[in-house]
Amino acid sequence: MTKTNDKKQEYLQIVFLLLPTLILAKLGDLFATEMIYRILFAGIFGGVGGALGYLVYSRVQKKGMVTIVVAGALLGGASFSALVWKARTQMPLTCEVCGYKTIKKGDESCAYCGANTWAFEQGRDDYDNKAEWLRYEQLNCFVLDSANQVFDFYSPDRAEGFKKDMDWKPSISQQDLVDDYKAIDLDPIE
Ligand SMILES: [Zn+2]
Repeated sequence: MTKTNDKKQEYLQIVFLLLPTLILAKLGDLFATEMIYRILFAGIFGGVGGALGYLVYSRVQKKGMVTIVVAGALLGGASFSALVWKARTQMPLTCEVCGYKTIKKGDESCAYCGANTWAFEQGRDDYDNKAEWLRYEQLNCFVLDSANQVFDFYSPDRAEGFKKDMDWKPSISQQDLVDDYKAIDLDPIE
């Protein structure tokens, strides 16, 4: 084999390894929203993609076939990325109040906690600002069973078919819940 041929084989190897690795790594986006899991999934799927690419490369050495396979991979990759992107944009957004992924395009309230979205509340004058809305709705949503209960804002991680967004953070604290519990206890609502 000549030197130019060697170089060509090298480039081909890179293409066959890189293309499927990059394409399949995109899969990670679909399976997880938290950055750390996306990286993990991207690593796993990317690895599988690379292995598959190498397998195809080691079998396809004929000139014409190489072009067909590379073109096919590019085309497949483009359509696959478009599908992943579409699926991701259609995924429900996180409810800022309860942290579950419930808000679909056009929704005015959360299907889990029932709180109106801030986008919806902005058109009304029930709250002076977003912080006030969030605090009120979260105190409404998260209620202690007893004054010394240690509250887990992330549990359960799935409820009524909705998934908790682990990147979401509550605006109220454990102490706020305790204070609220005591206030309600002193002044019970019938
Ligand atoms: Zn909610």
